[in-house]
Order: sequence, then structure tokens, then C-alpha cells
Amino acid sequence: MKKINMVDLNGQYRKIRWQVNREMKKVINTSSFINGPIVKEFQSNLEKYIDVRHVIPCANGTDALQIALMALNLEKGDEVITTNFSFASTIEVILLLGLKPVVIDIDPRTFNINPNLIQDKITDKTKAIIPVHLFGQSCRMEEIIEIANKNNLQVIEDNAQALGSKFKFSNSQKQMSGTIGDIATTSFFPSKNLGCYGDGGAIFTNSDNLAYKMRGIVNHGMYERYYHDEVGVNSRLDSIQAAILNVKLKYLDKYNSNRQEAASLYNTSFEGIDEIEVPFVESDFDSHVYHQYTLKINNGKRDELANHLQKNNIPFGIYYPLGFHEQKAYKQEFVSENDFPVTNKIKEQVISLPMHTELSKKQIKFISNTIIGFFE
Ligand SMILES: *Cc1c(COP(=O)(O)O)cnc(C)c1O
Repeated sequence: MKKINMVDLNGQYRKIRWQVNREMKKVINTSSFINGPIVKEFQSNLEKYIDVRHVIPCANGTDALQIALMALNLEKGDEVITTNFSFASTIEVILLLGLKPVVIDIDPRTFNINPNLIQDKITDKTKAIIPVHLFGQSCRMEEIIEIANKNNLQVIEDNAQALGSKFKFSNSQKQMSGTIGDIATTSFFPSKNLGCYGDGGAIFTNSDNLAYKMRGIVNHGMYERYYHDEVGVNSRLDSIQAAILNVKLKYLDKYNSNRQEAASLYNTSFEGIDEIEVPFVESDFDSHVYHQYTLKINNGKRDELANHLQKNNIPFGIYYPLGFHEQKAYKQEFVSENDFPVTNKIKEQVISLPMHTELSKKQIKFISNTIIGFFE
């Protein structure tokens, strides 16, 4: 059996090698490394794929969040609501811009922000909500949009982990995550569901005004060459990364369905094991694109299981070991540490298993049998 990895970028590359190499070579031969025509081409293909009016490519997913927030014309001290359980980027950019993070506990089933807790935290300083679609599943966007509309708040979806997933509204209509809020952001970090071979990111919006503004911000606040109307940043997706992404975008649905098949095999093998809770899916199975396949271990033995996996050379991840309220860099921002009972419980239970597009049935069987063996 092939060595088991948390992600298998090399195996994935081998299957599309000739196309990727050809497209990279084209960029090198034309030497149009920055803002080459391929960046526009990828942008337009991604706009079609997710069905949004504007995609603005940028340098990474963290920049994307910062640029989105910069576009909202907020003032120092304005409040931005977000989740307590995620990768650091969201709270980091809020703080870097001098805004105040107002952090909310999560839904114990999906690990996403709990919409029921948002309304109570809204003040007259609240200006925006950043829901993060964690592990590949959309937040409950219908409720979030309703709260935002009622309180006149802007919504920025962090879609770095859920590109290609669909959210199902109560009328059964489906819409791609990342097209529901005012702005959405994503990352093309290599291990993401659509990853490049370096850093990359993008911002989505259906608003012509916001798109215009953000295209200026990513380019030093320039709307006319060498005339700087505001303080911007330098954040670009380079042409070689765009060429790679343009090839891989064609396979994104296939990649996501490979992940769903792997998740389904894992789910079946863990049936009947009381200590294991498999990922909860809010609506249809295709609504979850399994950026991570994250189990909850209910008997307090998560760390022992982790040791057991390590002994058997099976990689795993603990996403995330702490909520933001306990991180050294952010904890002074929190008034009360008692607001996060769910995060505090979940962080001791979660364990993410190898999940990628190249997992074989044999590997999944081996991983699940090793886990089941631990509980028997
Ligand atoms: C990866 C990730 C980011 C940051 O993306 P980078 O490209 O690494 O800056 C932001 N938010 C979430 C939820 C992520 O998973």
C-alpha cells in the first residue's frame, strides 16, 4: 500500500502533469509573469464556475479577507462579528485594521458559527459579519443574511475551505457558497480544494461598486496609473499560479466528488462505533466538500487515539487545538472567557483524518480499521 499522507499533492499532479507543465511553459515562454492574459482567463473561468459577477484575484486568502474589509469603509473601533473556531486569518485582519472582533461560539454539529448567538452581540458599532465555511460546509447563510439585512450589516464569507460547495435554502434552491454574502474570499494555498503551487487567493462579489473599489485596493489604491486615491496594498496572483489554477479548475468538481466518496467510505466504516461521531451534514450530501474530514471522539480518548494513529504511521490533524479566546495573541481582546462552552468542549474532541483526492479504498480501509481496532 502507498504511504498514507494527510494530502497527496504529488499524486494529484502526476495525473495532470502534461497539461500543467505545458501551461506553465507557455507563461515562461511569453515572460508575462505578472498580470498576464492567463490571469484574466482564469478569473473569467472562475466567475462562470461559481456564478458570480466579479472575481478579483489576489496573493492569498488572508489578503483577500483584509482587502474585503478595507473595501467596506469601516472606522477604527467598528465591530466585526466572526467565529471563535477557525484558522487565524479572520481575527488577524480584523485586528490589523484597528477594528474590534466580536467572536461567537459555534454549532457543535458543524463547527460553524452559531447564527442563534449573533443577534445578542450586535451593537450600534457592529458593521459586518464574517462567517467561515469551516471544513468544507457552508454556514447557515439564510439565517445570517436575514440578521445582516435586519441590522444593516455587510457579510463577508470566508470560503477558503468550501469552494465548490452549495448551500441549500429553505425553498430548496441551491447556491454556491461564496456567492451569497456581499463579498466572499478564498485561498488557493496548495492543500485547499482548489490549490495552486504556491500562494494565491481571490475575492468574489456581485457588486460592481465593491469590485471596482477592491480592484483599486489590490493595486496600491490606483484607479488610474500612478494616481493613488487611497492607501491600498500590493496583492496579486501571479501568471504561473493562474495557469496552474486554470487547469485544475476543470477538475474541481471531480476533486470534490473524490473527497465526498472518501468521506462516504469513512462514514460507512465507522457505523456502529458509539465513541465516534462522523461529520454532520446540514443538508444534501453534495453540500459538504470535505476540505477536512473531522471526527468527534466522545469518550475523552481523542489524544490516546492520536497516539495510536501515530504508532501506526497514520497522519492526522487537530483543527483547531484552541479557540481564538485562548490564543496568546488575541485573548486580551475578550471580555469574558465563559462565552465559549461549545468551543471548549469541541477542541478536545476533534481529530481530522487524511483527506485528499488520491485516497484509495485500501488506504481508507486501513485507516478506519486501525481506528476501530483502538475502540474494540
Ligand atoms: C487557508 C485559510 C485562510 C488563509 O488563506 P492563505 O491563502 O493561507 O492566506 C483563511 N481562512 C481559512 C478558513 C482558511 O482555511
